[in-house]
Amino acid sequence: MWCLPMSADFDLVIVGSGFGGSLLAMIARRLGKSVVLLERGRHPRFAIGESSTPLSNLLLEELATRYDLPSLLPLCKWGPWQKACPQLACGLKRGFTFYHHRPGRPSERDDQLLVAASPHDAIADTHWYRADVDQYFVSEARKAGAEYLDEVRMESAREHEGGVRIEATRRGQPLTIDARFVVDATGPRGFLHRTFGLPEVSLPDFPRTQGLYSHFTGVARLDEMSPPTEPPPYPIDDAAVHHIFEGGWIWVLRFNNGITSAGVAAQSDLSEGALAWRRLLDRFPTIREQFADARPTMPFLHAPQLSFRSGVVAGRRWALLPSAAGFIDPLLSTGFPLTLLGVARLAEIVERDGEGLDAYARITEAELLATAGLIGALYTAMPNFPVFVALSMLYFAAASFSETARRLARPELATSFLLQNNPAFQMQTILQRTNSPTLADEIRRFIEPFNVAGLLDPRRRNWYPADAEDMLRAASKLGATRVDVAGVLARCGFQAAVQ
Ligand SMILES: Cc1cc2nc3c(=O)[nH]c(=O)nc-3n(C[C@H](O)[C@H](O)[C@H](O)COP(=O)(O)OP(=O)(O)OC[C@H]3O[C@@H](n4cnc5c(N)ncnc54)[C@H](O)[C@@H]3O)c2cc1C
Repeated sequence: MWCLPMSADFDLVIVGSGFGGSLLAMIARRLGKSVVLLERGRHPRFAIGESSTPLSNLLLEELATRYDLPSLLPLCKWGPWQKACPQLACGLKRGFTFYHHRPGRPSERDDQLLVAASPHDAIADTHWYRADVDQYFVSEARKAGAEYLDEVRMESAREHEGGVRIEATRRGQPLTIDARFVVDATGPRGFLHRTFGLPEVSLPDFPRTQGLYSHFTGVARLDEMSPPTEPPPYPIDDAAVHHIFEGGWIWVLRFNNGITSAGVAAQSDLSEGALAWRRLLDRFPTIREQFADARPTMPFLHAPQLSFRSGVVAGRRWALLPSAAGFIDPLLSTGFPLTLLGVARLAEIVERDGEGLDAYARITEAELLATAGLIGALYTAMPNFPVFVALSMLYFAAASFSETARRLARPELATSFLLQNNPAFQMQTILQRTNSPTLADEIRRFIEPFNVAGLLDPRRRNWYPADAEDMLRAASKLGATRVDVAGVLARCGFQAAVQ
C-alpha cells in the first residue's frame, strides 16, 4: 500500500471519503490537481443516506459526462447499474410512496400518495447500498490518481497565507499535509466545523427531530400484505416508502441483496433504540404488520439531533461540502442533490483556484434554508394528510421542472435546488398559509408555471404516473416545443410519441 511521507503538499485535501468526497477527488484529478483523500474509517463500512432521485441521478450523470468519468455513468439508472455493476448492491426506486397513519387504524387508499419518478425499471432511480457504493467511488478516485489514506485521525487544521496546514496521525504516525485548498466532506458537525470552532446556528421554525435506524431482513412488501384493488402507477414497494404520522415518519428502502433500510425521524425521544422502535410500530397496524417478521442486521443507530446548520460554510482556503454545512431531514431525499450541486460548484471553484467561494457559501446556505422551510412545514402538516400532500407538491413541481429544464439543456431555468433563487417560486409566501382552507387551490395556482407532471390533478386521487403527455403538454413552460420535449424523452429512454 502507498504511504505518504511524514509531510506532503497537495493542491487539494478532501477530508471524508463518502461518495461526495470521492467524487470531488475524481473531478479534481481530471482538472489536473494533486489530491489526497483522508478518511477516518475503512471501506467497506455502513453509511446512511441511501435513496437517489431523478434530479440527483441527472446531476451525477452531468458530472460524469462533463469530467469524463465513464465508470460512474451506470450508477445513474437502475438498468445500466444491473448490467455493468451487479456486484454493487442497490435498490429499485420507481417513485415516492407515502402512507398516512393514525394510531390503531390500518392505512387505506385515501391515505396514500404515490408519485412515480420513472415510467419503467430500466431508467429508474436507485437506493444506494452505501457500503458497496462508497467503496466503489473511493476505488475510482484512486484509479483517477487521488492519494487515499484511511484510518486517519485528524488533529488540527490551520489556515495561512498560502493554504491550510493539516496535522493528523495514521496508525500512530504523525502526518503533516499542506494544501492550497481543503474541502470538508465529513458530514454534519464534521472535521472543520469542530476544528475551526464554527458556530452551529438554528434553523428557523424547524422542529427538533431525532433519528433511529438500522438495516433489516424480513420486511414485508405492502403490495403483498394488501394487494391494491386498482393498478398503481408503479409497484408500491419499489420506491422510497414513507410512513407518515403525527410528529414523524418512517422510511423503508429495499435493496436487491435481501436487506431493507428502515428508520424513523421524529419529534419524540428515540434514545431507547430498539424499544422505542417497537413502541412506535405497535401504534400503527400497517407498519406493525410490515415489520412483523423483520430482524435488524445491526444494532440501531440513534441520532439525538438530526438537523444541523453550520454558521459558516467557507473560508478563504476551505469550504464545507453542503452535506457538512448542514442537514435537514431524510424526508424527500434532499441530501444527494444538495451534495451533488455542491460538488459541481466546488469543482468549478477548484478549477478557478478558489474564486467564487462567497457565492458558494451564499447559495449553499440559501438552499439549506429553503429545504428546511419546506420540510418544517411538512412536519407541521403530518397530522393532516391533505395538507401534507398539497405541500409536498411544491417539492415535486420544483424537482420535476428542474430535471426537465436540465435535460432540455436549459439549466439556466433551474440553477438552484427547489428553484430557491427563482423569483416566481418563492415558497415562503405559500408556506405561511398552511392553515388556509383553500391551500390546495393556492398551491395548484402557485406551481402552475412549473407543473410539468400533472400534479394536483384531482382525477388522479394522489396516484401520479410518469406520463409523457404531461411533459409534452407543459413544453411551453420550459420555453420548448413538444418536439424538443419528445426528443428529450426519447434520449432518456422514456419512449414518448410526438403527436
Ligand atoms: C438518517 C439519514 C437518512 C438520510 N437519507 C437520505 C436519503 O435517503 N437520500 C438522500 O439524498 N440523502 C439522505 N441523507 C443525507 C445523506 O446521508 C448525505 O447527503 C450524504 O451521505 C452525503 O454524502 P457525503 O459523501 O458528502 O458524506 P457522508 O456520507 O456523511 O460521508 C462522510 C465520510 O467522512 C468520514 N469522516 C467523518 N468524520 C471524519 C473525520 N473527522 N476525519 C476523516 N473522515 C471523516 C466518514 O467516515 C464518511 O466516510 C440522510 C441522512 C441521514 C442522517
